[in-house]
This record gives sequence, structure tokens and C-alpha cells, in this order.
Amino acid sequence: MIKDLYPFIQAYSLIIGLAVGSFLNVIIYRLPNNKSIVKPRSKCTGCDSQIAWFDNIPVLSYIILLGKCRNCKAPISIRYPLIELICGLMTLMLLSIYGLSFEFIVIVLLCYMLIAITFIDIDYFIIPNGFIIFGLAISIISHFFGLLSISISQGIYGILAFGGTLFIMGAIGSWAFKKEALGFGDVKLGLVLGSFLGTELSLLALFLSFIFAAMMSIILLLAKEVGEDHMIPFGPSIAAGTLLTILTKTVGGGNHIINWYFTNMWTVEYLF
Ligand SMILES: [Zn+2]
Repeated sequence: MIKDLYPFIQAYSLIIGLAVGSFLNVIIYRLPNNKSIVKPRSKCTGCDSQIAWFDNIPVLSYIILLGKCRNCKAPISIRYPLIELICGLMTLMLLSIYGLSFEFIVIVLLCYMLIAITFIDIDYFIIPNGFIIFGLAISIISHFFGLLSISISQGIYGILAFGGTLFIMGAIGSWAFKKEALGFGDVKLGLVLGSFLGTELSLLALFLSFIFAAMMSIILLLAKEVGEDHMIPFGPSIAAGTLLTILTKTVGGGNHIINWYFTNMWTVEYLF
């Protein structure tokens, strides 16, 4: 019965994901500016005209309008349909990993949050406290009702591994460089994420975050986008590392990257 419905559930998840992506665009644009995220209706930033519902359909409207405002032909940022597409496809991927379950709903909410944090941190260098509180709330609720595949104690070890490591690094960094090396927002985000991941996946997510951060720094320095004294936000790298960790979860509860590491790095051929 549920198998026959699966294509419909997939289509529904994709549509929900696209719609949430559209809502995240509003949050990313309005939340850091202390604007209401409910009212008023979206307007064109070029000509201030209200955007009709039929011009606000995720991804599709952007294609139909050829990326320009219907009224004033001002270009619409490619970021809007991109975020919608990322959310839609990510929701589909998470459905295939977690199946239709409470854990799927919890993890999908967490991932939406990470996407919003990524773009807000890129734009404004902040991780708004609202997200930390939101993450904390779904963490407590899901642990209380046992919705996650990890136990409460694993969650606590994850908090120590993820948030603890970031805190220590931040402390050492600010002592060594005599300035804030890692924002406290990053540490708080690490604490929240650790509670969802447990120790092993927290360490993987951290490791991947550092790789993303290093790649981003090199690209930005080469592109001369930052001077040497300028800061590069770490939040997007933490989000990317965590998303990659979650999206490489095996159906059995393990992780493809960890499995790959242990099968390829520790075989006899490599040691001798
Ligand atoms: Zn316009």
C-alpha cells in the first residue's frame, strides 16, 4: 500500500522542499534586517512593485520570467531559484535515506535551518540566535520523544565533540592571534548540531567543515575577495560539512564516507 504511494510521497516532498526554499529566501533576506517574515508580500527590489503569486512559483517563475522582473525588467538573483532547487532536491534525498519517518521530518528541518544559516552568515557574518533556539527546541523535542536513531547520551557526547572542539579552538585561536578567531555563534551552532549527530558523525562533520573552510579561504584569497586581515565566515563551512555528513548516511545508520575511509585507508595494500 505505502509502496504504491511512494512516487506521490516523493513528488509531494519535492514540492514541499521547493516551497520551503522559497520561504527560506524570504527569511534570509528579511530576518537579519529585523523585517517581518510574514508581511508584507514580496516586492521587487528594483521597482517596489508587488510580486504576483504566479510570478512567485519556485524555480518555474524564474525560468518563465527569464530571470527578470515582469514590471521593470531588473534582474532577479539566480540565488533565489538555486536555494529553492537545493531545498527541493535535498528533501528528496533525505526522504530516500530516512524513509517516511519522524526522524526524516526532524533532520529535514535541521537541514533547512543549515541552508538559511549558510546564506545569512555569508551575507551578514552572523548566525542569528533564533536559529540556535529553533535547533535547540527540535533537538530537545526529538530526544524527549526518542525520534532520532541516537540515544540521549550519544547526543551529549556529540555536543562535547562538536561544540567542545570549536570552543577550544576558538579559545586557543583568540589567545594566539589576540583577536576573535572563531565566532561564539559558531560554537553555539556546533553544540546544537552535535546533539543530533553523536560523537562519530560530529567528528566527521567537523573534519569536513575544516576542508570546506580551507577550500573557501583559498578560493576567496585567490579571487582577492578578502584582504588578509578580513574574516571569512566559518558558519557556511560548518553547515556544508554537516549537510554532507547527513546526506552520506547509509540506510543502515552508518556513513558512506566513514565506510569508505575504513575500507580504503586501512586495507593491507595501503599499509605495505
Ligand atoms: Zn521590478
